[in-house]
Amino acid sequence: MKCEELRDQYELYVLGVADEPERSEIREHLKRGCEVCMAEVKRARRMSALMAGSVPAAAPSPKLRRRILASAGYEQKRFGTAPFLAAALLLSLFAVFYFSGRERDFAHLATRLDEELRSQTIELTRLNEAFAILNAADTSVTSFGAGQAQPPKGKVFVNPSQGVLLIASNLPPTQAGKAYEMWVIPNGGKGTPIPAGVFQSNRDGSAMHIRRGAVDMSSKPVIAVTVEPEGGSPGPTSAPLFGVGVQ
Ligand SMILES: [Zn+2]
Repeated sequence: MKCEELRDQYELYVLGVADEPERSEIREHLKRGCEVCMAEVKRARRMSALMAGSVPAAAPSPKLRRRILASAGYEQKRFGTAPFLAAALLLSLFAVFYFSGRERDFAHLATRLDEELRSQTIELTRLNEAFAILNAADTSVTSFGAGQAQPPKGKVFVNPSQGVLLIASNLPPTQAGKAYEMWVIPNGGKGTPIPAGVFQSNRDGSAMHIRRGAVDMSSKPVIAVTVEPEGGSPGPTSAPLFGVGVQ
């Protein structure tokens, strides 16, 4: 097997959960001193060590694993036989998705994550908050933006007691003095919009925004995003880029 074909397995390898035959292949490459694989494994080790220092204590549930893998565009079967995926890997996959405009290019993104970690731009508190919402059994998830040509797209996770987590891509940087503002609009989008915080997108157009606090699911809320002055507005002053109905 070529190194190229092994590239999405290095992280799994260092965590001891790589699939066969890739696991044996990587071992062979290392044994014969393959420079590509040695560098990749070294990189993966460094990354998992960094991640291990920052993971929540509790192991994530299988449901969370499926959810994150699905969010990142991974096929379930790819990882289905792995006996256990460390929380570090989950967190890295999640962060990989978060920092990613190109959700499927794992190797590229892993490198990217490594860079992000080193420049210390990961906001772990926010990631932990995101995990709390993702991991709750009563969290609902709604996709948006599919089928548009140049969408903002992504997912909205809503937990009745914990809050709203928005993960989006294709949100271009706002003009100077502007920011994105999220809204929770009751009555299926017909009620008075409730401000849910301002945020900026990353330079690649990805964004993660969390609004903590209870959400009244009985009002059939719509989660919407508009562009507003960077201090935020008490009510939307521009048309929503998208509005996502939540069940
Ligand atoms: Zn190799």
